[in-house]
Amino acid sequence: MMIGQSRRRTLRARRTAALAAAALTASLALTACGGSSSAKGTDGKLNVVASFYPMEFLAQQIGKDHVSVTDLTAPGVEPHDLELTAKQVATVQKADAILYLKGLQPTVDQAVGQSSSKHKVDATAASPLVDHHLDAETSGDGHQSGGPAGDPHVWLDPTRYAAIARSVGDEFAKADPSHAEDYRKNTDELVTKLTALDQDFANGLKSTRTRTFVTSHAAFGYLADHYGLTQVAVNGVDPESEPTPARLAEVQKAAKDNGVTTVFFETLVSPKLAETVAKDLGLKTAVLDPLEGVKDPSKDDYLTVMKQNLANLQAALGATATTDATTGATATATATADATATS
Ligand SMILES: [Zn+2]
Repeated sequence: MMIGQSRRRTLRARRTAALAAAALTASLALTACGGSSSAKGTDGKLNVVASFYPMEFLAQQIGKDHVSVTDLTAPGVEPHDLELTAKQVATVQKADAILYLKGLQPTVDQAVGQSSSKHKVDATAASPLVDHHLDAETSGDGHQSGGPAGDPHVWLDPTRYAAIARSVGDEFAKADPSHAEDYRKNTDELVTKLTALDQDFANGLKSTRTRTFVTSHAAFGYLADHYGLTQVAVNGVDPESEPTPARLAEVQKAAKDNGVTTVFFETLVSPKLAETVAKDLGLKTAVLDPLEGVKDPSKDDYLTVMKQNLANLQAALGATATTDATTGATATATATADATATS
């Protein structure tokens, strides 16, 4: 779906602000280190193109000040229907390294195929896609999930995301051998954080009143598989599609049978559908963020958003483990911000 011109401009402006903030953070980091690396110009960096946020985060965490990262999907933009500009295609062509997820964004796949870059990391090579026969599937809707390529949302399982991180670290070491040691160290640090996150999810979701959650966008199949939960999606894999009355009746039955309290919606798409469904079923709504983009990269990242997701899942599923108070507070703030942004 196309977004309005003014919204696009706003997003561009935000993107520029975010880039400026990122540049500032990078220069502060260099100052703090006080090392010789601060003498290195932009030209000395590995030019990395990332197809969307989860790949951008890996590039930044693993590459740190040795890389210059371009994300093809601007913050706050839903990545599924991304169309590349001629300039972006040229950027992909010239990149030293490209990180992408084959099957998620056909136009990106095409540009990567035409790029002469010797360092291409396809997330699905490190974490093969599974075809989740989503309960939610109502029709063929153009999104790849459930199609021949499988469900693309692998990054939402922290252990799969860690495997992808390792492949990024290996490729950076090959592309820029003089900093191979740093890439290895940064990868290890990130994998340690992802392992801790996985433990938090496993412990936090161990004991719950129900194992079933209802979500508008069927993005959480891998997460559900890994932690023994059942995802019931209202409108399948395309976040913008409308569910049929038959599908709504199925969701209603699943919700009733499993003591579901909450309908989750995501952050990049209007919560209207989830709100309507929740109202019809007499349920609450809350955010479950598929991390296809983050609205404010200076405030949130993969790790903080996943912790919010965990807190929100624990609340909805009736977890007996205690929720971290700080995380809970952040989650509430995000939900309020989203409601304002999308209304
Ligand atoms: Zn998706």
